[in-house]
Amino acid sequence: MTQRKVRVRFAPSPTGALHIGGVRTALYNYLFAKQHGGDLILRIEDTDSQRFVPGAEAYIIEALTWLGIHFDEGVGFGGNYGPYRQSERRDIYKKYVDQLLASGHAYIAFDTPAELEEKRKAIQNFQYDASTRMQMRNSLTLSEDETKALIESGHQYVVRVKIEPNEDIHVNDLIRGEVVINSSILDDKVLYKSADQLPTYHLANIVDDHLMEVSHVIRGEEWLPSAPLHVLLYRYFGWEETMPQFAHLSLLLKPEGNGKLSKRDGDRLGFPVFPLEWHDPKTGDVSSGYRESGYLPEAVVNFLALLGWNPGNDQEVMSMDELIKAFDLRHCSKSGAKFDYEKGKWFNHQYIQKKDNKEIAALFMPILKAHGVDAEPAYVEKVVGMMKDRVSFIKDLWDVASFFFVAPTEYDEKTRKKRWKEDSAAQLTEFIEVLREHEPFDIESTENAAKAWIESKGYHLGNIMNAARLALVGEGKGPHIFDITEALGKEESIRRIQRAIEVLK
Ligand code: GLU
Repeated sequence: MTQRKVRVRFAPSPTGALHIGGVRTALYNYLFAKQHGGDLILRIEDTDSQRFVPGAEAYIIEALTWLGIHFDEGVGFGGNYGPYRQSERRDIYKKYVDQLLASGHAYIAFDTPAELEEKRKAIQNFQYDASTRMQMRNSLTLSEDETKALIESGHQYVVRVKIEPNEDIHVNDLIRGEVVINSSILDDKVLYKSADQLPTYHLANIVDDHLMEVSHVIRGEEWLPSAPLHVLLYRYFGWEETMPQFAHLSLLLKPEGNGKLSKRDGDRLGFPVFPLEWHDPKTGDVSSGYRESGYLPEAVVNFLALLGWNPGNDQEVMSMDELIKAFDLRHCSKSGAKFDYEKGKWFNHQYIQKKDNKEIAALFMPILKAHGVDAEPAYVEKVVGMMKDRVSFIKDLWDVASFFFVAPTEYDEKTRKKRWKEDSAAQLTEFIEVLREHEPFDIESTENAAKAWIESKGYHLGNIMNAARLALVGEGKGPHIFDITEALGKEESIRRIQRAIEVLK
């Protein structure tokens, strides 16, 4: 077989906000496509009108765009294989449904929901399959004329796949190896519904992967049970030659205990499970998002990439380009990956350090504005450079650095008790003179001048620095004193010390 062009797709159903596990699936598809110089398609699988949620599609596109996961084709991106929304492909599917009916791999069933319910009650573990289908109301038990008459008189029907029992179906999975499943456990899944004239997920998914020339299907583990049916459908259509290769990704697991990571875990433990904030149009509920919680997209990408995959060494901080180069489906884990939120914070911290101070400052500006501070960008940049190693989130810069923008009006009582000595007022009055006379006001020379003065007077360096810190910051925290004075400037530093002397003496 000649090497096919790599074409992969991310195929979400617009049933709500995209879960962080879905984001990881999109990311792995993206990494795989880019590594192989292939195409990534965004296909919207919206054939289940019952579960359609308005706004979900736009949310998915916005979230992935924010993260830097770009599509080559699809809804919102154009391309030659469209339309990419399944609800707009109705006419295409009908032909393939008819093909399966003609070849005897599918049949028409008229059983009403009430009839099915009755069977379920009568037969334990009822499944619509080879063992039961001949007891049901379908084109296998009715005559051709009866079937025709029912359709013509407007009876709703579904088309079901006819699974032959007792056959081993082999699914070759790039992550899991060969998975063998016996066809007897499969049911005759519904492929098409006359009521909305739309195929179900299984048929639409296979037909589209075929028509869109998809080479690899990389998706979540929850779709592994569907894979045997998909393999059969490829065979029934005569498309085995171009059947995509499968790769089913392991689940994202709860941070503690077992089971799949859910929205409830996020609510309970206080972290987002969605990329962007989500306003549920039905319930009005608002769920937090990584973006609104202060995460940098690069950090989210890096964090997710390593949940269930590793580069084969202990490298952790990796840019998108590095991830593209290193990604390998064979290094994806078969077992679930525990969601480690602390690690996510750690990545955000790393990316804040890596990012240009200018960029961080731009993100910090709106937060300053919200606190009523109107600061010069160059000054904000300087403060960010000094303080960013203390935070994991940009919004936390306010907590550690607000004193650079707003002079203290109160002085922390505990610090005052401990750090403000009897002679502090007198010493700081002298310190003001040292500062006033000293020029230039840079960190090093100001520090040298202050130390020379302290030494000549036989004062205690630590005491003076502690009192000065209380005056400048309002409490006992903050960076090196002369970093602070240099940033604040001579005037402001003196003003703050003067005020502290008045208030605290
Ligand atoms: N529509 C499915 C989903 O929501 C797609 C599964 C697949 O990728 O085949 O995940």
